[in-house]
Amino acid sequence: MWSRLLQGLRQRREAAAVARKAIPDLLWRRTLKRFPFLPRAGTTDEAALRRMTSLFLDRKEFTGAHGLVISDDMAVAIAAQACLPVLRMDLDAYQGFIGIVVHPGLARARRSFADDDGVVHEFEETLSGEALEGGPVMLSWRDVRSAGARAAQGYNVVIHEFVHVLDMADGLADGLPLLPTDITRQEWCAGLDAAYQAFCQMVDSGAPTDLDPYGAESPSEFFAVASEAFFVAPQVLQAEHPAVYGLLMRYFRQDPLARLPPTPLTTPWGLEDEAL
Ligand SMILES: [Zn+2]
Repeated sequence: MWSRLLQGLRQRREAAAVARKAIPDLLWRRTLKRFPFLPRAGTTDEAALRRMTSLFLDRKEFTGAHGLVISDDMAVAIAAQACLPVLRMDLDAYQGFIGIVVHPGLARARRSFADDDGVVHEFEETLSGEALEGGPVMLSWRDVRSAGARAAQGYNVVIHEFVHVLDMADGLADGLPLLPTDITRQEWCAGLDAAYQAFCQMVDSGAPTDLDPYGAESPSEFFAVASEAFFVAPQVLQAEHPAVYGLLMRYFRQDPLARLPPTPLTTPWGLEDEAL
């Protein structure tokens, strides 16, 4: 009884939010065209993504750094890409924070660390994005904007940072997010860790890798980097780390390979002879 009442209330609240933040057709079509790894127009996934993007826009607050003005195109570009990983989960997976800070270019962050002698060293780091526990998520617009062009490299800063948000939902950035009941912790850790160790060896030996070598920094970065490729260049991840592709497919409940445009038909080898 109560659960049905609550569910009805939630549906009404969400319908109102979707209406408040409805995305105009032209703007939505532009977004799908700019980021071709998003679900194709006319599919159920595309309709679900558009609805979730409106909900995201209703729940989050965008701030431009250094005088950057956040246009509707920019907000929708970020929101749609951020919603892609949780399309078959729940937007509540991002409920731990509200703010998204967008820098025009790379952001600079002051860092410090203490060495073995206790001496504190300060340095400056440039970042294309950063996700802090409890927020905000910081993104470089220059990098967000180039996501369509850089998809073939498996690069996507928005997906990377929002996968860190999923990873940190249990308080730890360790490459182990809260898992659905059909994936055991042991299964996840064994699959991801074996691939991570093999990847680190490839990077250390200087061998070329299809995934961003930055993934060798830590299990958490490997999870984020593998997830970027999973969504924007799934064939790359499938070829280099098929076991990881399989685990991510079960975790995200999506199969981005199935979304790729069909390959053009060619005459298979040998058939030309038969036709003669
Ligand atoms: Zn990262």
